[in-house]
Amino acid sequence: MIRVAVIGAAGRMGSTVVEAVEGAADLQLVARIDDGDVISAQTLNGAAVAVDFTAPSATESNVHACLDAGIDVVVGTTGWTQESLGRVRDHAARVPASVLVAPNFAMSAVLVMHFAAQAAPYFDSVEVIEMHHPDKVDAPSGTAITTAQGIAAARRAHHCPPMPDATTTDPMGARGAQVEGVHVHAVRLRGLTAHQEVLMGNAGEQLVLRTDSFDRISFMPGVLFGIRNIGGHPGLTVGLDVLMGLA
Ligand code: NAP
Repeated sequence: MIRVAVIGAAGRMGSTVVEAVEGAADLQLVARIDDGDVISAQTLNGAAVAVDFTAPSATESNVHACLDAGIDVVVGTTGWTQESLGRVRDHAARVPASVLVAPNFAMSAVLVMHFAAQAAPYFDSVEVIEMHHPDKVDAPSGTAITTAQGIAAARRAHHCPPMPDATTTDPMGARGAQVEGVHVHAVRLRGLTAHQEVLMGNAGEQLVLRTDSFDRISFMPGVLFGIRNIGGHPGLTVGLDVLMGLA
């Protein structure tokens, strides 16, 4: 039985994690921590792992408090920088506790990124289409950028030639953004949640990789995987793919 504390327990993601932990036979919810609560060994109540889904302004200090209390931390909150990750890496190296920071807990998205990088060198053309609800403020999505960067790196490693594209005029930007030479298109549509396709084409054939997150619950298999496996990975781990042995 792994004892789990949830930080940000009243939030949208935190409350979904609370339900997922309560529904897992091998996990026991021992603490719900919210804004204004002190994070200490006492309030963590003997937890072995804390899960943080709070706010970019709060998450780093929460992680340091958990490390001071000697417990592992699984972090989904966004807003991390190389500097804040560096401080956590240094802290985690000095204590017997581990940290996972995962920008995306959706297993399907993590696997699409991995498979896209594997497949991309074997196709002439590769483009990414990300599709989200219209309340999303940033475009393209972080996942689409990471996907395109992985595709570009794999193609560079295989010395792939530039992708064929005869476009010479595009005054309206219809060919989308370019991330390291990979075209990325963003759709914002009422009714969608978070979706992405990677289209890969050769003459006469096409491979399409697609991931759909229909609901916040889509992140829970990844969060529970993180809770169950972070203990075996000392120090700071960035990315669920690393914990899954894909990186
Ligand atoms: P939310 O609904 O605003 O929930 C955040 C919760 O954390 C709120 O209950 C908030 O309380 C609480 N909180 C704020 N500061 C705190 C602190 N210092 N200590 C303890 N609790 C604190 O947000 P959300 O939609 O759940 O998203 C949370 C984060 O997860 C965001 O950064 C989001 O981008 C990220 N996210 C990541 C993934 C992934 O796969 N990695 C997936 C979805 C979301 P108050 O409301 O009282 O301030």
